[in-house]
Order: sequence, then C-alpha cells, then structure tokens
Amino acid sequence: MSRIVVLGAGISGHVAASHLRRKLSKQHEVVVVSPNSNYQWIPSNIWVGIGRMKSEKLLFPLAPLYKKKGIDFKQAKALTFHPEGDREVKKPFVLVEHVVGGKKGNQEKVTYDYLINATGPKLNFEVTEGLNPGSNGCYSVCTYGHAEHAWQGLKAQIERMKKGEKVNILIGTGHAKATCQGAAFEYILNVEKELRKDGVRDMATIT
Ligand SMILES: Cc1cc2nc3c(=O)[nH]c(=O)nc-3n(C[C@H](O)[C@H](O)[C@H](O)COP(=O)(O)OP(=O)(O)OC[C@H]3O[C@@H](n4cnc5c(N)ncnc54)[C@H](O)[C@@H]3O)c2cc1C
Repeated sequence: MSRIVVLGAGISGHVAASHLRRKLSKQHEVVVVSPNSNYQWIPSNIWVGIGRMKSEKLLFPLAPLYKKKGIDFKQAKALTFHPEGDREVKKPFVLVEHVVGGKKGNQEKVTYDYLINATGPKLNFEVTEGLNPGSNGCYSVCTYGHAEHAWQGLKAQIERMKKGEKVNILIGTGHAKATCQGAAFEYILNVEKELRKDGVRDMATIT
C-alpha cells in the first residue's frame, strides 16, 4: 500500500489527485492538502474581471467531491518538508497547519510514500512597489476575489466615462519575472470590448 500526498488543489494538484484516484486501486491512499476550500478555474477570471461571469461559476467546493471519490482532504497549508523524517516519525513527511474548524492552527505531520508538490505560483505583487491590488488604483485578475474587485473598479471607471470624463487604463504584468502575460493580453481585449459595448470606448486610453 502506498500513500500519495498532493500539495495544492489547483489545476495541477486537482488533476493529479483525480487521475491517481481513478487509476490506483483502493488499497492506495490519495491525500490532498490545500488551504482553499474551493477549486477555482483561474483562466475564467478574465471574464469575472469584466462582470461577464460570476465567480461562483468557476468554483466548486472540494470537500464533498473528495469525500465521494475517496480522496482524503486536509484543508491545511504545507509548512516544511522532511523527506528523511525526524526523530519521532521515521517516514518522509510534510508538516502542515490546518486552517479551518476545530483543528485551525494545529500542526500535523502528514507522511507519504510519494509526494506531488503542486502549490502553484506565488503571487508576488510586493516586488513591484505600489502594485498591490487595492492600493494606488491597482487591480488584479489573478484570483476570483481579485477579479471581482477588478470588475468593481472597471465599473466605476465606466460610470466616470459615461459622465464625460476621460480615463487612462494600463493593463499588464508587473515584474519581469511575472508569468502569464497571456492573461493580461486577454484582459486588455475583454476590457476593450466591454468599453465598446457601453459606448465609452472613445473616452479611454488603453495601454
Ligand atoms: C487570469 C488568468 C488567466 C489564465 N489563463 C490561462 C490559460 O488560458 N491557459 C493556461 O494554460 N494558463 C492560464 N493561466 C495560468 C494558469 O492559471 C496557471 O498556470 C495554473 O493555475 C497553475 O496551476 P497550478 O496547479 O500550478 O497552481 P494553482 O492553480 O495556483 O494552484 C495552486 C494550489 O496550491 C494551493 N497552495 C498554495 N500554497 C499552499 C501550501 N503552502 N500548501 C498546500 N497548498 C497550497 C493553492 O491554494 C491552490 O489550490 C491563467 C492565469 C491567470 C491568472
């Protein structure tokens, strides 16, 4: 019997856990550790960010699905890796911290035979001074919460334009190390189309 621990339940972690559960016999254990209660289909945030989609449409709660499929789910975040175990636990383990419910704040050593680290990118707004979403008129579409916020920001700008004010909209990726420029490109086109739909395209400079 093997125990496979998957860290992260995003696109890669969720896909890995689902395939493993489907392909492995029940004597093997599949465990997912992730701090979010929901799966989110991140690429659709470019639609949430222009108000064409509600974030509920790109989310589903992980716990009920994993229960049904026989995947053990721990709503927790990985803190440290211990591939050689320690004095108490002689197997490889990951130290995790639970983030909800009665176990919130509790740490647990989750042992594994195989480990998949699928914790995704770190959203590193801090490397570009002043770029944090919510400050200095900055928005992001990197998470569904950010994208909802971006839509509120865009809506407010559309209202200004409807009143005859000209606005500047700058869309891009902040830092040279930032990935997923494609999303910024898509969002530019979505914003452009939205402004046309609202009849205010001539009031905005989009860069
Ligand atoms: C707006 C937007 C549009 C995009 N469009 C496209 C597209 O069209 N096509 C494309 O290929 N890519 C697209 N991308 C990129 C794509 O979304 C990412 O490449 C993809 O989500 C990465 O998947 P992942 O599983 O590695 O990470 P994520 O999907 O970010 O998942 C990481 C998971 O790890 C969890 N986690 C984080 N820290 C810990 C921890 N300490 N312990 C345990 N779990 C942890 C998170 O909660 C999450 O569940 C887009 C990105 C954005 C922002």
